[in-house]
Amino acid sequence: ATPTALMVGTARSAKMGVLIKNGEVLQEVSDLDTVVFDKTGTITVGKPEVTDVIGNKKQVLTIAASLEESSEHPLATAIVKKAKAEKLTIEKVDDFEAIEGKGVKANYKGKTAFVGSDRLLADVNISQEMTQEATDLQNEAKTVVYIGLDGEIIGLVAIQDVPKPSSREAIKELRERGLKTIMLTGDNKNVAEAIAKQVGIDQVIAGVLPNEKAMHIKKLQDQGKKVAFVGDGINDAPALSTADVGIAMGSGTDIAIDSGGIVLVQNDLRGVVRALDISKKTFNRIK
Ligand code: ADP
Ligand code: MG
Repeated sequence: ATPTALMVGTARSAKMGVLIKNGEVLQEVSDLDTVVFDKTGTITVGKPEVTDVIGNKKQVLTIAASLEESSEHPLATAIVKKAKAEKLTIEKVDDFEAIEGKGVKANYKGKTAFVGSDRLLADVNISQEMTQEATDLQNEAKTVVYIGLDGEIIGLVAIQDVPKPSSREAIKELRERGLKTIMLTGDNKNVAEAIAKQVGIDQVIAGVLPNEKAMHIKKLQDQGKKVAFVGDGINDAPALSTADVGIAMGSGTDIAIDSGGIVLVQNDLRGVVRALDISKKTFNRIK
């Protein structure tokens, strides 16, 4: 495309809230065949809410919130908000530790406590009943965190984050244009698959640690795919830079926005479709 055609293309998309850094990015977009999405805050609204508390509700929520008070994770925010709504007292904890992609640990009134995914369960006893309860909640597209105290699981908290209303349509339009759609998330497989089903996404890669996201993008590229990654978080930055096209949510963290070649100002995945259509127009015109 001529420099003028490129300028027209990027200006057109900017009008629609799709900021494309330069003409090279626009060219990369026209070659894409795969779009990989982060889940939380990208496919979903990113404002999770507590829906269920299993176990001694007051105790479970108090301990969970007391630990999560020191975390900035969206799940932590949801738990603290719920405890405050229930007028529970948040207690001080010692030796707080965040375990990236897994959960949080601390000393709660002299006992070792944790809140997090089943990856923290390694040497902890969990009843058959509790495991079943967790699976049922996950199949309802709810993220389950386990609350452990002194080597025992004392309860579960289920947290729901719903898809953005536009996500389903955006994914449908991408599939209609022949692109493969993939969800890449640190969340549990059951939850990821339940949400994938709601929005019609082709494939799920779940249980991915934050530092593994970029590696999964690389793997797809090694298979010859031209890959876009769409994300919003601090830990999405390496995947955004690795992808052939990094697409950041306007609501995302600064580092995600800086790592992307495209920014979706309206946080709406239909922006990916708009970028694709404009790139096709720009590059077909000169052929
Ligand atoms: P995502 O890919 O959805 O952004 P993360 O990599 O941040 O997910 O986290 C993956 C999983 O680790 C979460 O689904 C949760 O089970 C657990 N986890 C991470 N941080 C926390 C926390 N602060 N409290 C509870 N669980 C957590
Ligand atoms: Mg996210």
